[in-house]
This record gives sequence, C-alpha cells and structure tokens, in this order.
Amino acid sequence: MQYANSVLDLIGNTPLVRLGRTLDLQDGAGDGPLVLAKVEYLNPGGSVKDRIATRMIEAAEASGELQPGGTIVEPTSGNTGVGLAMVAQQKGYRCIFVCPDKVSEDKRNVLKAYGAEVVVCPTAVAPEHPDSYYNVSDRLASQPGAWKPNQYANPHNPRSHYETTGPEIWAQTEGRITHFVCGMGTGGTISGVGRYLKEQNPDIQVIGADPAGSVYSGGTGRPYLVEGVGEDFWPDTYDRGVADRVIEVSDADSFAFTRRLAREEALLVGGSCGMAAWAARQVAQELTAEGRTDAVVVVLLPDSGRGYLTKIFNDEWLAQYGFTTGAQPDARTVGEV
Ligand code: PMP
Repeated sequence: MQYANSVLDLIGNTPLVRLGRTLDLQDGAGDGPLVLAKVEYLNPGGSVKDRIATRMIEAAEASGELQPGGTIVEPTSGNTGVGLAMVAQQKGYRCIFVCPDKVSEDKRNVLKAYGAEVVVCPTAVAPEHPDSYYNVSDRLASQPGAWKPNQYANPHNPRSHYETTGPEIWAQTEGRITHFVCGMGTGGTISGVGRYLKEQNPDIQVIGADPAGSVYSGGTGRPYLVEGVGEDFWPDTYDRGVADRVIEVSDADSFAFTRRLAREEALLVGGSCGMAAWAARQVAQELTAEGRTDAVVVVLLPDSGRGYLTKIFNDEWLAQYGFTTGAQPDARTVGEV
C-alpha cells in the first residue's frame, strides 16, 4: 500500500512543469530555452511556506525553544500562517496568529479551520499603542511557553530551501539548470536555493523578480499591490550576495501574466507567481535572442490562485486599479467561436 502517515510527509518534492505559449518565443516554445515552473501550490498547505514552517518548528523543538504543549505566536495571516497552523496542529501545539484588521475574513477563516486562534488588531492605532499589531504579538510571544518563529530573521527559513528546494531542483534538472528565477519576500527562498545551486555550479545565474517600488530592486518601499513579495526593509533572511540580477516587474505586468498562466498554461497561481514567471519569460526571450537555446530556466511559483479569486481573478477589481486581464487576442477569438 502507498500512503503517507501524515500530511507533513507530503511537504516538498513538488514537480517541475514546462511553460509553453506564455513565453511568446518567436519560433514557438520548442525552439527557445527550456523554462520549467516549480509548482509549490502542490504542497499540502498550498504554498512554498510549508517547507519553512516544518523546518523552523523542528529546529525549535531540537533547541528546546519550543516545548511540548507550547504555543506558537507569529504576526502573519498569509502562507506562512497556513504552514505553521498545519504543522502545529499535527504536532499538538497551540497556534496564535496576530493580524491587522485589514486582513480579509477568508484568510482568517483558513487559519481557524486548521484550529489556530486569530487575534485581530486595529490598523488605525500608532505602533506604540498597546493594541497595535506589534505590541500584541510581542506581548503574546513573551508569555511562558510561547515561541515566535520570526520568519524574517530565522536562519532555518533559508536553510529549509538549502536543504530541500535547492537539491530537488538540482536533481530534477539532472544538474542542467542554468538560470533560477524567484520572487523575494523574506528572501529565504532565493537565498537558500541560490546558495545551494551555486555550490553545485557557480555559473548558475540566480535572478530575483521584484515589484517596482520594493527595496530589492532599488525602490524606496513605495506601495505596490502584488502580495507576498517585495519589502521596505532588508530582512536578515536575505543574502545580499546571492542574486546576480534583479528584474523589476510592475503590478500591471504581474497581474496580466498571472491571468495568462491560468488561461494559457492552466496554472491557477498567485500574483507573485505571475511576477516571477514574467521575469522568467524576459530571461527566456533574452536567451533566445542570444541563441542560447540550450539554457534551462527554473522559476519557482510560490502559491495558488485560489487565495486571489476576489482580486486578481476578478475583472472589476483589476479595472478599479486600471489593470487589464492580459487575455491574448487569439485566446479571446477561441472563446467567441
Ligand atoms: N510569494 C508569496 C505568495 C509569499 O507568500 C512569499 C513569502 N512571503 C513569497 C512569494 C516570497 O518568498 P520568500 O519569503 O522566501 O522570499
């Protein structure tokens, strides 16, 4: 019989799938470099963050920071929350997430569905106010038995990618990968995968994709709408020496490309995936122009599009910000026939 003893055993070993027509290569995808997407939404919690959740928790158990019956406290409402909630439940820890009141009810309900508690803090108070997001999470994390993973500073975040994501990509491409493309939030993914790949072959190009406005691409932290990537500060988990290049991507391009991935590659993925894949397409087009059709580009797609149905996959929401759906004229024709 083939089965896993726990969903935790199903984390990682995600597949690579070839991208085709969205690359818009002149002579068809067959003649350009091979572009492979690593599909992280196939993790049991639905994102790449399952990997760091397991690794951070196991390391805290080993060091004694997290004891049996302990409580995990993290100020997050996103993918890391889901990963932590899933691992915490299976391992028998209490889990409390602190999030600002602007976080959608759907996101809070996902965390609660796994059995986590969610504390909602008002956005309209100053950071020094006792009810602020920062103060509430610090207060909860200082209770006896509480442990805060702190994904922005925890070395086990990049380490999980050095130990799993990087080696998987190397093995899956039989060492033939030439370019790795990835978005950056905490920077854990690019730092861990990038370091591992460069240790195997220093010629591998590590390319970051970043929302226009974020510090990673030289911005000042001005707002952008794509979620989960880009920062207004430099996290400890980001290795500043790892990226050979950072490609800046606008919200408009990220969202239009996210829609194209769903419509043309049947990959229903999130906005940071559209952003990273847009950068990978850019790289593939440059490589094609240089005649380097033997290149193997791997782009990491962090999560699923299910969490963005009322935003990126909602025409009215896109139109409200002046964005287009990115539908290709030929795709529309097929629909009309
Ligand atoms: N995309 C999404 C949707 C995310 O939630 C994250 C994590 N913040 C990232 C990309 C970036 O990954 P990392 O934190 O490893 O840089």
